Amino acid sequence: MAEVVLTGLSKTYGATQALKDVTLTIPDGAFVVLLGPTGAGKTTTLRLIAGLDQPDAGDIAIGGASVLAETPAQRDIAMVFQQYSLYPHLTVRDNLAFPLRSPMIAMPEDQIAARVAEVAQVLRIPHKLDNKATALSGGEMQRVSIGRALVRNPRIYLMDEPLSSLDAKLRADLRIELKRIHSDLGATFLYVTHDQIEAMTMATHIGVLDQGRLVQFGPPREIYENPVSTYVASRLGQPRIALLPADAFGPPAQFGAPEGAAQIGLRPEHILQGEGPSALVHRLEHLGDQTRLHLDLGPHRIVTLADPHTRLGPGDTLLIRPQSPLWFDAQGQRI
Ligand code: ADP
Repeated sequence: MAEVVLTGLSKTYGATQALKDVTLTIPDGAFVVLLGPTGAGKTTTLRLIAGLDQPDAGDIAIGGASVLAETPAQRDIAMVFQQYSLYPHLTVRDNLAFPLRSPMIAMPEDQIAARVAEVAQVLRIPHKLDNKATALSGGEMQRVSIGRALVRNPRIYLMDEPLSSLDAKLRADLRIELKRIHSDLGATFLYVTHDQIEAMTMATHIGVLDQGRLVQFGPPREIYENPVSTYVASRLGQPRIALLPADAFGPPAQFGAPEGAAQIGLRPEHILQGEGPSALVHRLEHLGDQTRLHLDLGPHRIVTLADPHTRLGPGDTLLIRPQSPLWFDAQGQRI
């Protein structure tokens, strides 16, 4: 396992600048999640680290030394993609053993068998080892894909939306398993997703990408509580942060707005119910683990949380006011 340091990394494809001057340290043993919408540059970052593409500028160091001159195999990285990449004609056992039979590793067969058994246990598929890869469910296939990365002991695991093709229940199970594997192995992970729940539940650090730029990097709580911009603030939190004009509740100074505030950002915990201007209940949404209240404050829509036993319904009114909200300037930067 090793620290990975990206310095001033840039990459252009034709007219598209996919990555712009990205500098980032992935600490040894960290679980770093890159978060951003489609096209933000997440996969490009993984491909450059893996050596599947070369950067136009910048450097990639693993364990203290630049790897730019190394081939993908020499970099000693394991990668898991969104699509399963299994050999359909081989059994699960042989699929898992495949990376260890590479001439570069030359591991004796008895050690391979032991390692495959261990990983099958971790992924809870030991009873499937003799099945053909094609005789598995989607979730089992993706477990085997992850297992093919885990059998090795690479310097870093790169994962590109490995759970996105799975159903919600399996995704939730595998999130927990990946986190457990991370703690058990003490491995370094760089994990790409646009799913904020994956980011919040698994990451030790989150890096937020916006059109090829790394706009914030830090522990999940810090990104959630102290976003540098409306863009970052909107990436985390359910319901999504409400962004309104700074004067939506009245003169902004009355609520402690700093000079230059153009927008007020309100997460549910920033909305005090029972005081302040009147808002109209538009809709109540019961999601089981939370009850969402859709409110109209004049022309503005706010989604916040309600007591699950609330008697409020559409057409009712409710007093609300901001409490320690987030303020942003006209460009959406936090102030
Ligand atoms: P993400 O993984 O965040 O969705 P990508 O890294 O795949 O984003 O892509 C970043 C940008 O680079 C996108 O605009 C994408 O269209 C472009 N891009 C990525 N790979 C290529 C390629 N091989 N050829 C042309 N454009 C590409």
